[in-house]
Amino acid sequence: MRVYISVDMEGISGIVHWKQTGPGEDAEDYEQYRRLMTGDTSAAVEGAFAGGATAVLVNDAHGAMRNVVLTDLDPRVELVSGSPKPLSMVEGLDSTFQAVFLVGYHSRAGTPGILNHTYSGALVDCRFNGQSVGELGLNAAVAGHFGVPVVLVTGDDVLVAEARGLLGEIQAVTVKQALGRYAARCVHPQRTGQLIRTAAQDAVQNRQRFNPYRPVLPLKVDLEFHDTGQADGACLLPVLERTGNRTVSFTAPDPVWAYRITRVALRLSAT
Ligand SMILES: [Zn+2]
Repeated sequence: MRVYISVDMEGISGIVHWKQTGPGEDAEDYEQYRRLMTGDTSAAVEGAFAGGATAVLVNDAHGAMRNVVLTDLDPRVELVSGSPKPLSMVEGLDSTFQAVFLVGYHSRAGTPGILNHTYSGALVDCRFNGQSVGELGLNAAVAGHFGVPVVLVTGDDVLVAEARGLLGEIQAVTVKQALGRYAARCVHPQRTGQLIRTAAQDAVQNRQRFNPYRPVLPLKVDLEFHDTGQADGACLLPVLERTGNRTVSFTAPDPVWAYRITRVALRLSAT
């Protein structure tokens, strides 16, 4: 039984600012925060194996995607590291897996969660058939395309509410309470580790209770940008239709297509 784990960073306890989420001149003790990210990942891996997983693939899904410290993980795992990769935050996921964990995830753009955004700072909203979705929804839809349910999420309270609203009563661990976009009340990492281990084991053992997320196809995707220049850039991609000053739309035959076009549109929006 194979478990796939996608790990982002903004939804790790202790992290409340961009400066904590990447290396560089401006960084605030990135080494400490990548260890926290790795710690929650490790707890999820341990729980997966305890729940009966025979193989676990971890995908580093934050920033340059070179954050998770492989040597701190169980030697049975494999790690997808680095970028770019065609399926980005869910690279390597396919129909051979039986369960997906989204660890350290953050809420979608415009919600009151810690460091809320949807893929880039350029997007105000992304809608699937009229319903707002964030990275959680985009990645869950790719998993659903392969017939795999998301069974566990971890992040702040806003992310957990978003997950339950979209995916139902899956396992979820709230590792911090958002007090705003840049402030939170954080659970100690030793405690998040215990909670995630237990929830991961339970989620894997009860995976049959959860359904893959499958939005109706074909999928109508609306992307709403902050400014008109970003929409101008995105429209260099010929499959996009300009539907407003700051909005573009397209129709996708499946969620993987929707995912890949959305990511290219976001890259182009920065030109
Ligand atoms: Zn991230």
